[in-house]
Amino acid sequence: MGEGCAELAALCPRLAAALTRDNTGARGGATEGGSPVNPDVLQAAVTIRTEIPQAAMFAAEAVGEPWQPRKLGVCLKAIPRFAERMHALRLLDGEVRLGDDVARWGRLVKLALGIRLPDFPVPGGWCCPLCETPRRLMVTGAERFLRRDGTPGELTHPGLIWAGCCGSSWPAGDWLHLGHVLRQVQQEAMAG
Ligand SMILES: [Zn+2]
Repeated sequence: MGEGCAELAALCPRLAAALTRDNTGARGGATEGGSPVNPDVLQAAVTIRTEIPQAAMFAAEAVGEPWQPRKLGVCLKAIPRFAERMHALRLLDGEVRLGDDVARWGRLVKLALGIRLPDFPVPGGWCCPLCETPRRLMVTGAERFLRRDGTPGELTHPGLIWAGCCGSSWPAGDWLHLGHVLRQVQQEAMAG
């Protein structure tokens, strides 16, 4: 969580500079329809400016620490500490939610800045084997992590398959087992 927050603190200021560029490559380097801003970047900027201070405020309240609205960088420094306090106070739901939020903000900002590729469905259209009304299994997109000097590093493939229905995930080491389970589910379905 500390690393995720530090990376966000380094990346968030870059959103402002990126606002007039298209980083996704989807629109051929130009902003959409002659719009003066890149809509993905704008959406990411609005989301983090709203949600990060809000999350810090809620977390401070949950752990009983006095807090006023503060700048993004200050919030991002405090959030890992709040998560530790939540853990110590057994506020585990809050701790998990904060971790999920940090991961989600990271994905959003990196996608907007063009240093993360979108997630994509597992080839073959396989669905989650654990749910009654399953959703398609997704592969996490590759991303770049910041080097010490702040420049984006090599494209890294996280090797993670995940299911949006139940939030289950399978790291690369579990893919063989997941394949067996999927074939088993398919055979059972075919046997009626
Ligand atoms: Zn599921």
